[in-house]
Amino acid sequence: MAKIIDGKSISQQVKDEVKEQVSKLAQEGVTVTLAVIQVGADPASSVYVRNKKKACEAVGIGSESYELPEETSQEELLKLIDTLNERPEVDGILVQLPLPGHINEQIVLDRIVPGKEVDGFHPQNVGCLSIGKPGFVSCTPAGVIQLLKRSGIEIAGKECVVIGRSNIVGKPMAMLLLKENGTVTVTHSRTKDLPSVTRRADILVVAIGKPKMITADYVKEGAVVIDVGIHRMEDGKLCGDVDFASVEPVASAITPVPGGVGPMTIAMLMHNCLESVRLSGKAK
Ligand code: NDP
Repeated sequence: MAKIIDGKSISQQVKDEVKEQVSKLAQEGVTVTLAVIQVGADPASSVYVRNKKKACEAVGIGSESYELPEETSQEELLKLIDTLNERPEVDGILVQLPLPGHINEQIVLDRIVPGKEVDGFHPQNVGCLSIGKPGFVSCTPAGVIQLLKRSGIEIAGKECVVIGRSNIVGKPMAMLLLKENGTVTVTHSRTKDLPSVTRRADILVVAIGKPKMITADYVKEGAVVIDVGIHRMEDGKLCGDVDFASVEPVASAITPVPGGVGPMTIAMLMHNCLESVRLSGKAK
C-alpha cells in the first residue's frame, strides 16, 4: 500500500512557517502586502481570488484587492500595474488568469516588475530559475518539491519523469527537479510510447490535464507518483490526471486529489510574498 502524501498538512506547515516569519517582521515594523487583480467575474477565478485573500489573512499578509469590470482596457490594466509597481508598500502583485480575450496576458504579466511578480511567470524569473539565480518560482511546481522533501523522498540521483511541458507546471517542474540533482525526462503529447518512458520513473510528476489518464500501466512498481491535475467530474467530485485506484497499489507514495498538490500552490504563493520582502532588501 502506498504512503499517501498529505498536501493539506504539509501546506499547513509551510503556512505556519510563513506566519511566524511575517509576525517577526511585523515586530520590526516591516509589513508584507499582496495586491490581487481580477478582471471580469469568472466564477472559478473569483473562488481562487477569495482563497488567496483568505490565505493572506491567515498568515498575516496584507492584501489589496482590485476587482475590475470585464470591459477594462489593456491600457487601464497596465496603468494600475505601473502604479502598484511604484508603491514601495506593495510587495507582491498577482493578476488572476485567465484575462478577457481583448487583453494580451503576456504583455500584462511582463509589465509587473520581476521583484514583485510572485507567480514566477515573468521571463526574468523563469530565466533566474534556469540559471540558478534568486527569483520567484512558479508556485505549483515549487509546492511539489516541498511535498517530496517534507515527505523524506530523496530526489538526487533519481529518474524523474514529468508528463507535460507547460510554462506554468511542466517546464519549471523539470528545472526544479534538475536543481535537486534528479535525472530528468520531460514528456508531452508528441512523446512516442509514453508508458515505456514513464515506467522508468522513480518519481513521476503528472501534469497532463486529462482526467484519470495515468493508470498502473504507466507506473513502475515502487515509484513515487505526484498528481498535479485537478478536474471536477460530472458527479461534482474532484479527480486528478492519475487514476488513483489503479496506481495506488503499485506506487510507494502518491498524492491524492483533492488534498495533494492543490493546497500547496497557495501555500507557496504565501512563501513567495514573504520572499519578496527579503529579495527587495526591505527585511534582512
Ligand atoms: P496544459 O494543458 O497547459 O499542459 C498539458 C501538457 O500535457 C502539455 O505539455 C501537453 O503536451 C501534455 N499532454 C497532453 N496530452 C498528452 C498526452 N496524451 N500524452 C502526453 N502528454 C500530453 O496544462 P497545465 O500544465 O496548465 O496543467 C496540467 C494539469 O494540472 C491540469 O489538470 C490543471 O488543471 C492542473 N493544475 C493544477 C494546479 C494546482 O494548483 N493543483 C495548478 C496548475 C495546473 P503538448 O505540450 O505537446 O501539448
